[in-house]
Amino acid sequence: MIQPFAIAIHGGAGTLVRGMMTPDKERAYKEALKLAMQKGFDVLKGGGTAMDAVEQAVMELEDCPLFNAGKGSVFTAEGIHEMDASIMEGKTLKAGAVSLVTGIKNPIALARDVMEKSGHVFLAGEGAMKFANRLNYRLEADAYFFEQFRYDQWQELKGTESFELDHSQKRDSKFGTVGAVACDRSGTLAAATSTGGMTNKRYGRVGDSPIIGSGTYANNRTCAVSCTGSGEYFIRGVAAYDVSCLMEYKGLSLSEAAGEVINARLLELGGDGGLIAVDMQGNIAMPFNTEGMYRACKTSLGQETVLIYSD
Ligand code: ASP
Repeated sequence: MIQPFAIAIHGGAGTLVRGMMTPDKERAYKEALKLAMQKGFDVLKGGGTAMDAVEQAVMELEDCPLFNAGKGSVFTAEGIHEMDASIMEGKTLKAGAVSLVTGIKNPIALARDVMEKSGHVFLAGEGAMKFANRLNYRLEADAYFFEQFRYDQWQELKGTESFELDHSQKRDSKFGTVGAVACDRSGTLAAATSTGGMTNKRYGRVGDSPIIGSGTYANNRTCAVSCTGSGEYFIRGVAAYDVSCLMEYKGLSLSEAAGEVINARLLELGGDGGLIAVDMQGNIAMPFNTEGMYRACKTSLGQETVLIYSD
């Protein structure tokens, strides 16, 4: 059998209700998703690795102001942008992650550098910034990350105790964390996730996105997973690893395992969100327990979708 290859991406899950967005906005989201998906797919098609594919796709989404990662990251309580990202390779179980980094255009690239060049898995805050500096990362000025609608979102919460998912209820601007999972021509899996976290977050709050096993996980024996949603619940549920465990230890299929985590286990905890996952056969699962999730996938078997709502 020829080894299939496949990629899936997400741009956040949340209260995405049909009709709340203008058609133009909806089109802009779909185009951005399609572009990122195609970028990753082209890497795979050209014989590139799953790691390169997920990194390329996530970088594309980080550079797009529509999503809460890289350029479009939300504001913290202090009015800055603190970003988290992680990446994992399923063949070697090697992983890299950064949290609370500032001024970095593509946190996912830094996460990969942590994996490949630091001898560690997870670097945070000041230390991560020192590492970036050693690798000669250029820092972007605050202006690069300024988006008026993010600023307005923050103004609504500024000075209060609340923090919010950027795509939480009663908002017409619902964007999110980004992620990608891929299976390459050699059957190796990879997953990547990148985020600005939650609007008005404080105290060095870190969500699930940079935590290996919670927001991101990849293992060639099972699947590659990238999550989005209320991070605290994904951390407590060790959500990404749980999908892999259900496959490895209970023999569930990819879609059964992914569905069980999002629609049963996470819901029982009270958590909302979704995930994307791929296995070695090129199967893809993209379950969510919210109204919608920005998502897209493309496989060498001919599957191709770009979706927002539950259809
Ligand atoms: N999971 C992310 C976090 O909690 C947020 C998101 O998915 O948009 O930081």
